[in-house]
Amino acid sequence: MLTPRSGQPTPLITCILPAYNEADNLKEMVPLLCEILPKLSDRFEVLVVDDGSRDATEATVLALSERYPVSLLSLSRNFGKEAAMSAGLDYAEGDVVIIMDSDMQHPVEMLEVFYQRWLEGYDMIYGVRADRSDEGMVKRKLTRAFYHMLSKSADVEIQPDAGDFRMMDAKVVRALRSLSERKRMMKGLFAWVGFRSIGVPFKVNPRFSGETSFGIRRLSSLALTGITAFSSAPLRIWMFIGASVSLLAMSYAVIVVLSTLILGTDVPGWPTLVAGIGFLGGVQLLSVGVLGEYVARIFSEVKGRPVYLISDYRRPVQVEPKDDE
Ligand code: UDP
Ligand code: MG
Repeated sequence: MLTPRSGQPTPLITCILPAYNEADNLKEMVPLLCEILPKLSDRFEVLVVDDGSRDATEATVLALSERYPVSLLSLSRNFGKEAAMSAGLDYAEGDVVIIMDSDMQHPVEMLEVFYQRWLEGYDMIYGVRADRSDEGMVKRKLTRAFYHMLSKSADVEIQPDAGDFRMMDAKVVRALRSLSERKRMMKGLFAWVGFRSIGVPFKVNPRFSGETSFGIRRLSSLALTGITAFSSAPLRIWMFIGASVSLLAMSYAVIVVLSTLILGTDVPGWPTLVAGIGFLGGVQLLSVGVLGEYVARIFSEVKGRPVYLISDYRRPVQVEPKDDE
């Protein structure tokens, strides 16, 4: 079949695996990947980004690299998944680059479907979670509310059920590298760069071993980054709230004046005064808080610190898998 990509030399596929304490998972994941990837292309490499793991992740990858084409990029400490993915993208040399979790939650079989799409000419192919029944009700509702708000206010459309499980063309990777943002929500940046994209539904597997490192704190911090990075709606909302409160206050003033003129009321109403001051104080503190989020973001961008630091980069001498495998 003639496809937009036919006639090109065999593409090099780089599969980035961000890993934080994933020794046990990588032992399963890497061999599995090295079974699937040769079906797509003769030239492939796995790039494990060790995000400051405290377990045997590094030793495991080095042991694996004796049998499989695995490179190891070690960050100097734990910088978080967004930074680890950015590091992987900066070092990935592939014509086709894959990002997936190292905990087996993203099914490797999907890569064949993704690759087919790439051959058809799509530049970015992302996995869309077919169902979220594995998550708790509260998390599901909060996620839905977050994406609803983001889609209403952001300048780009961020797919609610898409994740970081993706395959992309080298030109998308180059585009992503050109973004100098420090505090990143990759999912937003993937959407922001554009290109011919398509979502493919898949079912998330349970984690093979260990526990998720995305608790409520990390998730809410990521959500805040997403909102402040892609929308200025929260700032605008306060303008409207401010205007409405002022209007209310003015109407109340008119009522007070009129009632004094007509009914000749004396000066009661200190409870109203206390309630009014309290309410306004709350509103002001909240709005300063929202402003603060944006100022903090400016501050972290202005400092200009790198997104991650590399402590080690090791590539295997032998890049092809052994024949007996
Ligand atoms: N991860 C990482 N750095 C971190 C936290 C997580 O590189 O600080 C990696 C982790 O090893 C895994 C992926 O990001 O490959 C997804 O993490 P996790 O499974 O904890 O999150 P969840 O699947 O619950 O979203
Ligand atoms: Mg996971």
